[in-house]
Amino acid sequence: MKNSLKNAQTAFENWKNIPFKEKQKYIQKLGENLLAQKENFGKIITEEMGKPIAQSVAEIEKCALLCDFYAHCDNVLAPQMIESEFNISEIHHQALGVILGVMPWNFPFWQALRFIVPTVLAGNTVILKHASICLKSGDAIEDLFIKSKFPKGIVQHQKLSHSEVATLMENPIIQGASLTGSELAGRKIAELAGRNFKKVVLELGGNDAFIVCEDTDLQKTAEQATKGRLHNYGQTCISSKRFIIHEKIYDEFLDIFKKEYQKYKSADPMDENTFMSQMAREDLADELENQYQKALDNGAEVIVPLVRTGKRTFQQGLIAIDMGNPMADEEFFGPLGMVLKGKNDEALLKLANATSFGLGNSVWTKDKERARYFALNLASGTVAINQITKSDPRFPFGGIKNSGYGLELSTHALKEFVSTKTILGIF
Ligand code: NAP
Repeated sequence: MKNSLKNAQTAFENWKNIPFKEKQKYIQKLGENLLAQKENFGKIITEEMGKPIAQSVAEIEKCALLCDFYAHCDNVLAPQMIESEFNISEIHHQALGVILGVMPWNFPFWQALRFIVPTVLAGNTVILKHASICLKSGDAIEDLFIKSKFPKGIVQHQKLSHSEVATLMENPIIQGASLTGSELAGRKIAELAGRNFKKVVLELGGNDAFIVCEDTDLQKTAEQATKGRLHNYGQTCISSKRFIIHEKIYDEFLDIFKKEYQKYKSADPMDENTFMSQMAREDLADELENQYQKALDNGAEVIVPLVRTGKRTFQQGLIAIDMGNPMADEEFFGPLGMVLKGKNDEALLKLANATSFGLGNSVWTKDKERARYFALNLASGTVAINQITKSDPRFPFGGIKNSGYGLELSTHALKEFVSTKTILGIF
């Protein structure tokens, strides 16, 4: 570890001085190399965490789009000259140094690269700690930077235990950290960052609402609700997790939703046509089963039973729940959805906001005014209207409340790990 830190620091001293436009050329090459190896990288993802191969390859294509965005984005870090009474009045943004990235398994390339690419483009260098089931992905990412001819030491993947992460957070070479992961891990990193005065970005869990208004197209909405919940086997931070339905269409919508929801079955992750495969780990399947049982013990009603069909597989489940049930404020990270009923827009909104998370809600309605009412009043970092919540390299992404703080993506991410310096001079 000592050598890696030293290499990262040495690399930073040179890298920070390379012009932004030059750095963008490296990022462009990175994107091209990603695309050239998308089948190979996709296979690594599927082998490590079990995602269907078509979705793994699509993840790599999305990473290439991310690179394309950053290879051509405006330099929002360029020094600004301000008109004032001083002879020199300038604002500069300067890279912080070596940044630690602690990343999850659910999108092993996307989550890591959406942190690394803007952080590196801003002039920093990175130590990556990947999830313990994604070490090949971590190595492949480091290798990708080497093959794309980045100077040595810009991105280094290290196999680290939780206690080694804690030790690193205390190390003066580490200037900041970004964690994408659970609320529990977020609290740990935030504590360490606080104690050591280090800048931190936290992208944590979600319990997002999917609001179904009575004027929406029920069939189309049910199809999208199904995809929103089951994509990546329900293991996505911004999956639709709580389906909040207007009482006027509750029964009708639920009938259609149930049919759509039960269409899919777990299948071979290596088959190109598979939509649903399996949980990433057996212990995560055990956890989901426990959460389901606790929800039922606290009064939730079964709409479609969650049935364990293998060590890592389920027949997907749906439960009707109310926000008084303690499990309604927990994140179900797997193929289990919650359904709630509200009598008008105000009630739907109240239910949607009655959670300690705030990542990416969606609302389904044909009425623009109504959509705007929800969009402005939903407590989350993103609101999607008549579409499933997705991240997009062009737009900032981040949560509020227990979903974390700080931003990724867009030019906003470039400013997360820089210091802003004021220079005022009189001659
Ligand atoms: P996790 O268990 O928190 O792990 C995430 C990363 O943190 C892994 O590298 C893990 O290492 C590490 N980690 C966990 N506890 C740690 C500790 N005490 N000290 C240092 N490192 C620690 O989360 P996960 O199960 O992989 O991912 C699922 C969670 O991530 C869900 O809650 C999901 O909503 C959230 N997520 C959020 C976003 C977002 O953008 N907001 C995106 C994706 C996922 P090990 O693997 O070695 O344990």
